Amino acid sequence: MRMSMDPSHLSANLADIRRRIAQACREAGRDPAEVALLPVSKTFGPEAIRAAVALGLHRFGENRVQEIRDKAGPLADCGIAWVVIGHLQTNKAKDVARLASEVQSLDRPELAEALQHRLEIEGRELDVLVQVKTSPEESKHGLPPAALEGFLERLRDFPRLRVRGLMTMAVQSDDPAAVRACFRRLRELRDAMRARGHALPRLSMGMSGDFPLAIAEGATEVRIGTALFGRR
Ligand SMILES: *Cc1c(COP(=O)(O)O)cnc(C)c1O
Repeated sequence: MRMSMDPSHLSANLADIRRRIAQACREAGRDPAEVALLPVSKTFGPEAIRAAVALGLHRFGENRVQEIRDKAGPLADCGIAWVVIGHLQTNKAKDVARLASEVQSLDRPELAEALQHRLEIEGRELDVLVQVKTSPEESKHGLPPAALEGFLERLRDFPRLRVRGLMTMAVQSDDPAAVRACFRRLRELRDAMRARGHALPRLSMGMSGDFPLAIAEGATEVRIGTALFGRR
């Protein structure tokens, strides 16, 4: 893990990201208050995260549960809300139920079932976003779009999972039109599900390299790692 991080860089990076979010909102005719920033702290250590907390950030995205386990102790005094954004194995449900405030990578019924079970034991609830595969790349995780409606119906059986919206990762491509098409797909799916009675107010989409396109397509939350903390 990266142990140190120059706080002045962090502060300048944060200001720059906020400026770019505001600009993308302006261009899309949206209110910047509609778009949240989720800082992604994966591979960065407690010291860097503490510096970010000092700048007013308090939710952090991590893609490995083991990293949340390692960091939650040393940062216990910071009141951090840990957000799981990476592919989640069912056998990690116990740690997630204990430590996380939210999972954005819910993508299959077995995982929902395991989380529900562990949340009952912990006496907790969890906000969840359903991760949808909007890109043809084999490497990307997520539920196939055609399975989304059935999955949302299944989730009614798991009341400790508070379904808040959808998440996706766009195709990795130099072609902005191809990237944007992934984000548009997620928004259109959200609209289709809403018409069928599933309120999904949140759309988590966009990372350091593509977040203005995601905002143009309706992102309510962008997940930013590199542009904030630096290269991993
Ligand atoms: C790492 C990661 C991000 C952040 O990526 P950057 O390009 O560093 O901003 C966002 N979402 C997910 C799911 C990630 O794993």
